Amino acid sequence: MSLYPIIWAAEHAPMVDAEERAILMALVMKGDFDGLNCFRSYKTLAKVARVDEKTAGRRCRAMESRGVLKRQEKHCSPVWEAIPEKQRPVIWEVMIPAEWWSAAQLADINEQRANLGRVPITPENRPALADAPPKKERSDKGTKRPKKKAAGEGEGTTSPGGDPGTTSPHPQDYKSPPPGLQVPQPSESPSESPSENNHAVADAVGNGAGGFARATSGAGAAGETGEAGSGSAASGTPKLPSQTKRSPRPATTKTRPRQESAGFQMVRNAIPVAVARPGTRLYVGLQRAINDLLDGNLAAGIPRRSPEQVIARINRRWYGEDADVRAAADYRGCDRCTASGCSSARRSADDADGCDRIKNPSSWLAAAIIAQDCPDPGCEDGLIIGGGACPTCRKRREEHQEAARVAAETRTRWEADAETYGSQRAALDTWTAAEKAEERRLRQTLAETGLYGALLDHHVQRHMTGWRDRNPQPAPRAAQGGRHRQEASA
Ligand SMILES: [Zn+2]
Ligand SMILES: [Zn+2]
Repeated sequence: MSLYPIIWAAEHAPMVDAEERAILMALVMKGDFDGLNCFRSYKTLAKVARVDEKTAGRRCRAMESRGVLKRQEKHCSPVWEAIPEKQRPVIWEVMIPAEWWSAAQLADINEQRANLGRVPITPENRPALADAPPKKERSDKGTKRPKKKAAGEGEGTTSPGGDPGTTSPHPQDYKSPPPGLQVPQPSESPSESPSENNHAVADAVGNGAGGFARATSGAGAAGETGEAGSGSAASGTPKLPSQTKRSPRPATTKTRPRQESAGFQMVRNAIPVAVARPGTRLYVGLQRAINDLLDGNLAAGIPRRSPEQVIARINRRWYGEDADVRAAADYRGCDRCTASGCSSARRSADDADGCDRIKNPSSWLAAAIIAQDCPDPGCEDGLIIGGGACPTCRKRREEHQEAARVAAETRTRWEADAETYGSQRAALDTWTAAEKAEERRLRQTLAETGLYGALLDHHVQRHMTGWRDRNPQPAPRAAQGGRHRQEASA
């Protein structure tokens, strides 16, 4: 047993609901580290997940149809073979996508697989999985749209914060274009920007889109009504009733599951491949971080940013901090880094000696883009959002530069000191000796000419002042010179 499949099943697998998750959890619990050899009878699964035995089977097949589970043909489990043939359960391979693991984790897993003679896990044999359809399992894909609306409606009112709530907005949003584009009649704004149009439909249920359509054209309204208005009518499909239902104001204020922020998809597409492969769902924390940046989060002191600003921010953080290199499987950030991972503490503000290898690119990026270095929350790495250069940053930069300059200067001086100290001392000794010798020579010479006492001293002083002018004392630094002079005269 390995924790990866369990963590994946518990938190990351695209599940329709808790019941399905419980069944998947029960399955992976007994499976291999890579998701292989998951087999438990429907009876056991039913017991663990507290569902009907038939439900357990149906749920497994539903997961199979979505690619979450795959029937495993090859196996070599003596445990399974020991089960009487008629009672042998299906062996499932739990299709944890290759991209879910970090590069280092995947390298480790593939190493273990190689030891067992299994082919490596790749994005090809373990592709990314689509989001789970909203609750109410129905495998008929043709009727997805109306079904989705109905489901979204139910979730919006019952569980705004739940897990399915976070999965449904994306496809719902994503699926929105067709109705918006189908409206041919109104030549004004609905057609000018497809993406905005989507949001008009998806965000303001029955408000902007509905009001507009009502004012302009009946046909347009009917087309959109089928979408936006489905919420109000339980039976759904008929267009006329739903149009009349959509008009009352209250429809606009009803709660709905959290939508992706406008521009989310644009930001999503710019996410480095090493973090998440194109078209796959983002790690929840990263998704939340992006939405916080796009929407702004007053409570967290995060101002709103445009998608372009968020993308620039992502790139600055990711590439600016060499994250692509640091997240690579062959990166060694410390001597405990191996292909399979690293057990050292992570590098942080508190722990500068920690390992700077990035073990989980998604969570690293989520933290990196939310991190705000400048105390001004409106500062986008030196530029005030919607304004010019950040004065706080400029001041901070100047302070840093000044501090760095002083530090560099001090260091240079100390290095120079250490280097020149020896030679300076020798030069000073020589000079002092020369000075004394000169003075002695002069005194002798002058004494021979008959000078003595104060007059002799006066002549010597005057001469030596001239001599010192011509032969300056070598130590330029007063403190050191003073100390040496003291030593010399002692
Ligand atoms: Zn390390
Ligand atoms: Zn700033």
